[in-house]
Amino acid sequence: MSDEHGEPGAPARNFIEQIIDEHIASGRWGEPGDRSVVRTRFPPEPNGYLHIGHAKSIALNHGLAEQYGGSFILRFDDTNPEKEEQEYVDSIKRDVEWMGATWEEPVRFASDYFEQMYEWAVELIRKGLAYVDEQTPEQIRAGRGTPTTPGTPSPYRDRPVDESVDLFARMRAGEFEDGSMVLRAKIDMASPNFNLRDPVMYRIVNAEHHRTGDAWHIYPMYDWAHGLEDSIEGITNSICTLEFENHRPLYDWFIDAINRDRGPGSVWGEKIHHPQQTEFARLNPTYVITSKRKLKQLVDGGHVDGWDDPRMPTISGLRRRGYTPEAIRAFCNGIGTTKFNASHDIGLLERAVRDDLNRRAPRRMCVLRPLKVTITNWAEHGDADRVEWMDAVNNPECAGAGTRKVPFGGTLYIERDDFMEDAPRKFFRLKPGGEVRLRYGYWITCREVVKEGGEVVELLCTYDPQTRGGDSPPPDADGKVRKVKGTIHWVSAGHAERVEVRLYDRLFTAERPGKATGDPIDDLNPDSLEVISGALIEPNWRTTEIERAAGTGVFADGIERFQFERLGYFCIDPEAGGAGAPVFNRAVGLRDSWAKIAKK
Ligand code: ATP
Ligand code: MG
Repeated sequence: MSDEHGEPGAPARNFIEQIIDEHIASGRWGEPGDRSVVRTRFPPEPNGYLHIGHAKSIALNHGLAEQYGGSFILRFDDTNPEKEEQEYVDSIKRDVEWMGATWEEPVRFASDYFEQMYEWAVELIRKGLAYVDEQTPEQIRAGRGTPTTPGTPSPYRDRPVDESVDLFARMRAGEFEDGSMVLRAKIDMASPNFNLRDPVMYRIVNAEHHRTGDAWHIYPMYDWAHGLEDSIEGITNSICTLEFENHRPLYDWFIDAINRDRGPGSVWGEKIHHPQQTEFARLNPTYVITSKRKLKQLVDGGHVDGWDDPRMPTISGLRRRGYTPEAIRAFCNGIGTTKFNASHDIGLLERAVRDDLNRRAPRRMCVLRPLKVTITNWAEHGDADRVEWMDAVNNPECAGAGTRKVPFGGTLYIERDDFMEDAPRKFFRLKPGGEVRLRYGYWITCREVVKEGGEVVELLCTYDPQTRGGDSPPPDADGKVRKVKGTIHWVSAGHAERVEVRLYDRLFTAERPGKATGDPIDDLNPDSLEVISGALIEPNWRTTEIERAAGTGVFADGIERFQFERLGYFCIDPEAGGAGAPVFNRAVGLRDSWAKIAKK
């Protein structure tokens, strides 16, 4: 793909890159051709944990700054004291950092601009462009009118400027009750765009703010504050989601109102910076919800184990699940940036995780539900207690990662599911009388099934000493080569370490959670978590120096991730800690099991 703006054969530039290219060519923000003027930001409100949708915004904004050699800012939009907490600030910083998005220091807070915004608001009152309204919230709402009828001007709309200035100062000082008055912009009560029908700029909130304490009794509304924050920070491209498209005329109006009568020699001062807002379609993945409010309900309702539950679509949940920032970024960039609302297949994110971990995760063997296997002829070919150390490949995708030694002895464990007593003809794993290859081990044949109370508790098997390492045995006297169709994983009973494994699945069974009943809780997947406490992993499973030197098992966040042969990709739960057995979380299976279900 290519287009008129790109080099032939280069990937098409998305519409935001095209806009920035034009700004650079025309010198809108500086000297024509200067790419380093590009300045973007990620502006979360600290009222919850970040989710996969925010990851898209981070990847986009930070990606553009990096691509153009510009700068990227992390700003907390902390204008709502009642819903905001330091815990959210801390988690957001950690998540943005983990995503690999380095910001220009220091971290910014909208609350640092409260004084400046207040001064600009007073300036608007003095210019006759804002007024204190003492109507009740209900009266203000009713006065807005409808899409077909114009609004009704407030009786306070034309009150004297000095009266508004005085009341506004006293609102700030805490003289009035919540909801008793607001500051409104004086724009156009008949505008077809509702956002322009004298929007509220400040409301009274007598509450503690997580940073400014009780210094303020008024707080700026999002629409007043947001564009000014961008202006103060010199943001060139204010990138936001589509639902803010019809707020853009208001943001532009506010900046133009401040700039009215400003300029060289003006009593108001110089003109302030006017960023360009551009809207794009939000990331909307299937099988997840991306609303902080609804995610908070899952947490508060105890449906998940906190914001960082590995089933949550939060960045901290995905991290705990074993997803990598590289995979999340690859997904975000891969789906592109457009102006069309669409839904995005969550399977693409899972595939990105699989692709990344296939390349980077060392291989290990782990048996989830162990079934004992006794090799009855082990003593016939040497010391009954002997252990043979077999060579296992560390990562077939990573040259140089080498091999490791895996112990093989007379007692092993295999996966319970890999044995079937009454197996169908096409079952190529272990069955009575059948032969199977133990990966990197030997071929074994099941001779006898031991049961207790109807349950299979042990298999008595023989091994073929000529199949060491899993290799085929030499041809028999007639030149015929024996073959096995199945290869299964195993661990040595005398060496394996007991671990806990948590198998995660999608949190919701519906592609659009809550679509049918209006409540996503109704679509929760009852099987989204299976905890297996008695899994057995091969010994010395930690990532080795040799592997790391070769580039496999190297993860910048320090989380160890592995492929368990035949089972999927797992990480050591970074939050489990403690003295108990290690806990492994499954990130994804080896194949897309949901695609299989859909085909059935
Ligand atoms: P939520 O609706 O989950 O509360 P929000 O948009 O209110 O999200 P903010 O903290 O205001 O949360 O978001 C910070 C930034 O992340 C905003 O610039 C917003 O546009 C962006 N963002 C939020 N959700 C998405 C999404 N699904 N896709 C892309 N960008 C998003
Ligand atoms: Mg928001």
